[in-house]
Amino acid sequence: MTKAKVVINGYGTIGKRVADAVSLQEDMEVVGVSKTRPNFEAKIAVEKGYDLYTLPESVESFEKAGLKVSGTVEDMLKIADIVIDCTPGKVGISNKEMYDKIGIKAIWQGGEGSDIAPISFNSEANYEKAYGADRVRVVSCNTTGLCRVVYPLDKKIGIKKVRATLIRRGGDPGDIKSGPIDALVLDPVKLPSHHGPDLNTIMPEINITSCAIKAPTTFMHLHIINAEFEKDCNSEDVIEILKNRPRIRMIKDGIKSTAEIIECARDIGRSRNDMWENCVFEDSIAVEDGELYMFQAIHQESDVVPENIDCIRAMLKLEKDNKKSIEKTNKALGINN
Ligand code: NAD
Repeated sequence: MTKAKVVINGYGTIGKRVADAVSLQEDMEVVGVSKTRPNFEAKIAVEKGYDLYTLPESVESFEKAGLKVSGTVEDMLKIADIVIDCTPGKVGISNKEMYDKIGIKAIWQGGEGSDIAPISFNSEANYEKAYGADRVRVVSCNTTGLCRVVYPLDKKIGIKKVRATLIRRGGDPGDIKSGPIDALVLDPVKLPSHHGPDLNTIMPEINITSCAIKAPTTFMHLHIINAEFEKDCNSEDVIEILKNRPRIRMIKDGIKSTAEIIECARDIGRSRNDMWENCVFEDSIAVEDGELYMFQAIHQESDVVPENIDCIRAMLKLEKDNKKSIEKTNKALGINN
């Protein structure tokens, strides 16, 4: 079977995870990754066997560092069927013209504005919209986490209104520049936050408001979700719906923090302690007077990774049925182990 050729532009937190996830699939392969600086991640990429590309102005610095470069980013785009842009937020937009010129299909990440591509993507909610598409944005870690809960509850019970409070991690574990170190930062002060409208790029029919606070932690985001239902239901109904979703992990056994979830990821042998699934605290689920209350934790570094894999399959028409794609991706990654 000929494998689809995938390149990753921007081999950082998300890019390196997407590259490794692509490598695990039977129907696609990584044919190049790009870095702007010859740092430790670039060195490890080469050690892992990825062909390394860079910007024309950076080739010399890689050579000086003794790292073999296979060509420029433009050279890399010419050998692939699709590029996954994992450059930092708001940088991806500057690559659009280059992708258009070369005529390659492109996926951007949630750090870009929704206007970068005509389609914003979630594997369960709108896979079919991305089928055969040329330009798609996989929404952010927080929006992906919200979609995975709101979509099935709306389909099965009906949602009148969602209110979501997001306690966001201040930075990723390897990030030495972000914060806060000792504060809770309103992000933004003016309400609501952009997360509700971002969910509406996938599910425009959902009435949702959101607010967000940045906290001094690197492990995960924590969501407090409140939703008004259309129909009568109880907490058991909600648990039954959520525990049968392909990318939701019910958290039990006395776990009451993001730190313990990450420890659990380490204990079950997850690479980079990644938790690709939403981690829903089962005992937090309560339904009172037709309203849901619940907590979930979202591993910001990894939850969008399986969505990128499904998005590749949809755009390259490798699989028409989203359930089958989700199943293939989950199996290859070991999701729900
Ligand atoms: P990152 O800073 O960890 O990695 C970005 C990589 O791109 C770095 O390796 C950098 O060297 C490289 N780069 C920078 N400019 C480049 C250019 N012009 N060409 C090629 N490579 C370039 O960023 P990240 O956290 O992986 O974020 C990538 C995207 O994913 C952003 O849109 C972000 O909003 C989104 N995202 C991030 C997270 C997260 O928690 N980190 C979660 C979900 C989505």
